[in-house]
Amino acid sequence: MFINIFKVFLKNIMKSFHIHIKGVVQGVGFRPFVYRHAKENNLKGWVNNTTDGVHIQINTDAISANNFLQELLEHLPPLAIVTSFNIHETELQVHNGFEIIQSNSNARPNLLLTPDVALCKDCKKELYHPENRRYLYPFITCTNCGPRYSIIKKLPYDRVTTTMATFEMCNVCWEEYNNPMERRHFSQTNSCPDCAIEMQLYENNQWTKNFVNLDYIVEKWKEGKIVAIKGIGGFLLTCDATNQKVVNTLRKRKKRPFKPLALMYPNSLAINEDAILKEDEKKELESIYAPIVLLPVRSLSERKNNLATEAINKGLSRIGVMLPYTPLYDLLLQRFNRPIIATSGNITDSTIIYEDEKAIGELSGIADVILLNNRDIVVPQDDGVIQFSEKNRQKITLRRSRGKAPIYINSKLRLPENTVFAAGSMLKSVFGIISSQNIYISQYLGNTESFDAQLNYEKTFRHFQQILVADIDTVIVDKHPDYFSTRFAKDVAEKNKAKVVELQHHVAHLYSVLGENNLLHCENKILGVVWDGTGLGEDGNIWGGEFFVYDKGNVERAFHLNEFDLILGDKMAKEPRISAIAIAGDIEGSEKYLKRKFTDLEWTIYQKMLGNKENLRCTSMGRLFDAVSSILLNCDVHRFEAEASMRLENLASKYYYNNNMTLADTYLNEDTLPENFVKYLFQEIMNDLDNGVGKEIIAAKFHISLVGYITHVANMLNIDKLAFSGGVFQNTLLVDMLNDFMRGKFELYFQNEFSPNDEGIPFGQLMYFARNKTK
Ligand SMILES: [Zn+2]
Ligand SMILES: [Zn+2]
Repeated sequence: MFINIFKVFLKNIMKSFHIHIKGVVQGVGFRPFVYRHAKENNLKGWVNNTTDGVHIQINTDAISANNFLQELLEHLPPLAIVTSFNIHETELQVHNGFEIIQSNSNARPNLLLTPDVALCKDCKKELYHPENRRYLYPFITCTNCGPRYSIIKKLPYDRVTTTMATFEMCNVCWEEYNNPMERRHFSQTNSCPDCAIEMQLYENNQWTKNFVNLDYIVEKWKEGKIVAIKGIGGFLLTCDATNQKVVNTLRKRKKRPFKPLALMYPNSLAINEDAILKEDEKKELESIYAPIVLLPVRSLSERKNNLATEAINKGLSRIGVMLPYTPLYDLLLQRFNRPIIATSGNITDSTIIYEDEKAIGELSGIADVILLNNRDIVVPQDDGVIQFSEKNRQKITLRRSRGKAPIYINSKLRLPENTVFAAGSMLKSVFGIISSQNIYISQYLGNTESFDAQLNYEKTFRHFQQILVADIDTVIVDKHPDYFSTRFAKDVAEKNKAKVVELQHHVAHLYSVLGENNLLHCENKILGVVWDGTGLGEDGNIWGGEFFVYDKGNVERAFHLNEFDLILGDKMAKEPRISAIAIAGDIEGSEKYLKRKFTDLEWTIYQKMLGNKENLRCTSMGRLFDAVSSILLNCDVHRFEAEASMRLENLASKYYYNNNMTLADTYLNEDTLPENFVKYLFQEIMNDLDNGVGKEIIAAKFHISLVGYITHVANMLNIDKLAFSGGVFQNTLLVDMLNDFMRGKFELYFQNEFSPNDEGIPFGQLMYFARNKTK
């Protein structure tokens, strides 16, 4: 009798509840976190980590179960991100305690891969604490930091599925690993000096196994030697950044004569001694993503570290800096206490080298010493790069890579159930995937003009395909048939019997900025301003100065930069002087600015080519920048990508930020837009040159005129919401001017998480598909 009453009582209050949590929940200490909270609340049941997220079962009443879920969501581990969760009552099961049960790996993965993140504060404290057992251990990690994406072979994330599988933990580590109350419970990267990841040194064809002497590396830097170091996503080439001679040697050996080189500093304070570091930039540098941040370099008299600046950034106004993001780099930099060059270990344009054998083969021609370790890298990644506009502090992503890839989370997006592969572009190749309604965006994969980058692209794609067990049903490609990515993806489509969708390059840019600003379902018209170097247009010409009207999922090319002739194919993008002659060659009086840039023979041939009715036509804003830079700065041949426009921006910035300029300083008049804006602009610029106006003023006026141009078009079309994308909007000055002159009267949207350059294309391709599938 009593027992029966008790059973009824129990049935009324004690129930079993199942909680399912999705998002970034693996490799972030989620199970021990749940365990600790369950213990604190005296709950019985279990937690499990599977390929579709974390599952929890608890016995309690409905109110406590919901409270428990709330408690979890409010106190997530630092790296965890929850994208969805649900709770429901399930059949009553009896449990004796709370346990963590084994992962199963049968189901199709539906969770986000955790990116590689920088050394955390707790580990850093332990690293420098003499009594800690990991004191000065270069591979210290915990569930809140260290490599993930770069070492994972398949899901779920468990030690056996990573390149840590071959390391056997010592007893102490094993105890930590199995103790749910420890920060390193189920930390798959767990190791210590007793069960260490070992370093090897390769120098003069000789190996030193079990290498530990970090002072030796510091000595090498001091001696002016180049050291290749295996990090998280691959090898970096390093040397003393205050030694001009070694920096030049590195440039020569790496075959990278001019492109700026990135720096690594021991700490933010030291960065601030050489560059102007603002709070938002410092926050980024010290974040878990630890990207390279481009900062304005201080004048020579202000600088403290005797940086070999000219050799590093070739006279540009910004330097790219980062902080040590692994314990190994931190230990080395604290010892050296000076900035080092830290540039991707490769021959320029190919993929960052990440395999030991390849490093020995290819980097020994560049580095004097190679520091390796026996933790293998599965997925190579470069460092991410960002910058902020000087005045309005608009964040601009230039490369989205380590720390960010391969995830993107935006709970407001409506995603289709399809499995979609977006192939991206060519020069800045990245691809995207939608699978199980998650978005994956790969790291930067290199310039797929190089065979190496093509292999990297394919390998990374196969890796994703295998990890996600994804049966692709739709493939989205750029309209350009000759891009490697387009060809590759069409091949994938054929093998998978998937549908192929072609999307115009600049329309993809537009969808990228709309997607990340949650404007895909906007009720109002939006003017999309998409300016870049090149992309194949719907009409077979080369576009790049485009104005689109986006109206609830419909895109119309409403306006564009005046067309000019495209001659000599790719050579035109590489030689700004050709853009100058193509744009301004037929303007009266231009000869005196142009002719000296060419030999007589070139001049005659190019003149003849121009005006040929067979020529492709081009509306590229990138080429307009090139042309102006050629006229003003004699930047006639690019020594590195986008050099001409960067130098033009530099020149204009110097004047603009120190003088009070307004929209009235445009070359345009207020009422009407000249029929040929491009020619008009050149005529005005040459008039100013004839009249001896300072080049920095002309450069600033050119930038302001572009804002004036956009304002005219927006007014003409009567649209007050503007979204900007395309490589031109990496220009911080232009972004500042748009904010200075247009904000208030117009609503402005920029890319932020994704790059406005072609790296943002695959996300845009996915957004196009998502918008059209989820009306
Ligand atoms: Zn840590
Ligand atoms: Zn150990």
